[in-house]
This record gives sequence, C-alpha cells and structure tokens, in this order.
Amino acid sequence: MPFQPLPDDQPSCTVACPACGHRWLVYEQQLGLLGPCPACDAARPRYMGSVAPGSGRQVSFGSFRDLLDEPRLLHLIEQTLGLRPLDAERFADAQGREVPLEDIHYALQGNAGWQGRVYNLHMSRTR
Ligand SMILES: [Zn+2]
Repeated sequence: MPFQPLPDDQPSCTVACPACGHRWLVYEQQLGLLGPCPACDAARPRYMGSVAPGSGRQVSFGSFRDLLDEPRLLHLIEQTLGLRPLDAERFADAQGREVPLEDIHYALQGNAGWQGRVYNLHMSRTR
C-alpha cells in the first residue's frame, strides 16, 4: 500500500540524488520507502537532513487539502507544476496521467517560493 500522509503531516526531510543532484522533500515516514530518483532514475536518493525548523511556512497536508477549493491554489498548481484539475482533489499531468495529491503537496512544499505562496493562501483563509 502506498504511503498516505496524515492530515497534520508535513514533508520535512530533504533528500538528494547522488547521480544528478536533484533535491526534493519527502515525509519522514517515506525515507525508508524511496525508490530511484524521479529525475534521472539512476540512483537512490540520500537523506540530506530536515528542513530548518522555524521556517514556519509549511502547510500541512490536511490544510493544503482544505485549500483545494481556492482558485488561486489551482492556478498555482497549474502554473508551477503544469497540472490541471480533474475534479475536487484530482489532478492530471500533460499526458493525462493522474498525479497523487501528496506528490503535489510536497512538490509545492519543496520550493521556497511556492511554499510561501501556499502559506499566504492558507493564512488569508484562516484569518
Ligand atoms: Zn537523479
């Protein structure tokens, strides 16, 4: 069964590919389950450490999910990741393949600029 994050889980561990240098964020629970690098497929990623605590701009999976009715978030996902919404919680890539929501969450959380934009949407919602 694939890993399913709990609503309060946040991807907080940085991993890097020793072959191509690609870096991304995963959930701590995923560290033992990682397959080959998604960018080059040549090597298994290595754990590089956790995101600095207190960056304070992470949005949990549950909060991210709650934001999916926000047009500005859908626009961000489309613009940055090239994914289009299929329906409420489902997205597809340019080839029409469905992309898991947790992948979208940690792709956005793995980029400081995108993370900031999701965080701002989250904060404007909770105020
Ligand atoms: Zn790689």
